[in-house]
Amino acid sequence: MSLESLYDFSFPNLQSRLEADGVRPIHAIQLWKLLYRELEKHPAQREDLSPPLSRWLRDNFGRTVGLTQSSVSESIKSSDGLTTKLLVRLHDGQEIETVVMGYPGRFTACISSQAGCAMGCVFCATGQMGFVRHLTKGEIVTQVLEAQRLLRADGQELRNLVLMGMGEPLHNYEAVVEALAAVCHSPGMGLAPSRISVSTVGLVPGIIRFTDERLPYSLAISLHAATDEARSRLLPVNQRWPLAELMDACRYYSERLERKVFFGWTLIAEQNDSLDHARCLTDLLRGMNAHVNLIRLNTTAGFNGHTSAEQAAQAFQKAIQAAGIPCTIRQFRGIDVAAGCGQLRAERQKAKASLRSKHGDADPICL
Ligand code: SF4
Repeated sequence: MSLESLYDFSFPNLQSRLEADGVRPIHAIQLWKLLYRELEKHPAQREDLSPPLSRWLRDNFGRTVGLTQSSVSESIKSSDGLTTKLLVRLHDGQEIETVVMGYPGRFTACISSQAGCAMGCVFCATGQMGFVRHLTKGEIVTQVLEAQRLLRADGQELRNLVLMGMGEPLHNYEAVVEALAAVCHSPGMGLAPSRISVSTVGLVPGIIRFTDERLPYSLAISLHAATDEARSRLLPVNQRWPLAELMDACRYYSERLERKVFFGWTLIAEQNDSLDHARCLTDLLRGMNAHVNLIRLNTTAGFNGHTSAEQAAQAFQKAIQAAGIPCTIRQFRGIDVAAGCGQLRAERQKAKASLRSKHGDADPICL
């Protein structure tokens, strides 16, 4: 029996694989709809399948085996009921996070692209844990489907997708691009590419490639500082690709594709939230088709920065807007479910370590 996941196939690959195995490729549409539209977890058990497809599934994926070795190990809802965080356990025991957020008239899923992250942003719980491995296309897709399952149970549908969870999406470029193509493919889930946003901390070659391949998704840059000195302190990646190179890549993307660039700025009290910082930012973005999204820091155990005061955030926003640059303060979401990326996983790892120290080395899940 194959251990590969059906979610690892792209639609064209699924067609070719069926054809190679003597099954008419037309059956790929039926299977794709089951997986991505009906969210069927056990298609081999369906009795309404065409016999050749049913046989192929049984022979290759077993009758009872699920489609992926990922499973939701924990689901926590925020006290306001608007945010749910899913902890997803992968086949090798790694845990990643997926967050589903409700806004007026729409639901957004924030998904992970890697287990851990190599970028080491100092304020980020995922950065503090280091890089473990890239997620496969199937592991990325599974998160979107789990988010949709959660919403469907309440009669809702997923509308927006952001790659802003654990990991740097452009560091796992191929798997991310294939996963997004799969969830946008219309016989299945058919998410609108314009409602998908890929967020990067500034991997310049990835931004250039994203532009040259004319990917139809929005691009968001996690900026957080407007001078190299300040940015390198927060984001080590800035030492590899400093602001001048990053801004050139952003202008290339914006001008070549005639699109707006979204810049994320995490407001950290007394580190990047003054009017002087706002002036530096407007100087940096002058002449660019840009939108700034501000978010007040989600504090983490490994970083001693503090959340900006609401007043400081508003003053910062006004200064950006006064320079003619659209600027939004993003809502503080799910703070009681450790909504910052990697925070829930870090909390659970800490709890397990503390149980181990009390009970010896036994796996706390088995206690
Ligand atoms: S903020 Fe994003 S890129 Fe930076 S360490 Fe965290 S997950 Fe990685």
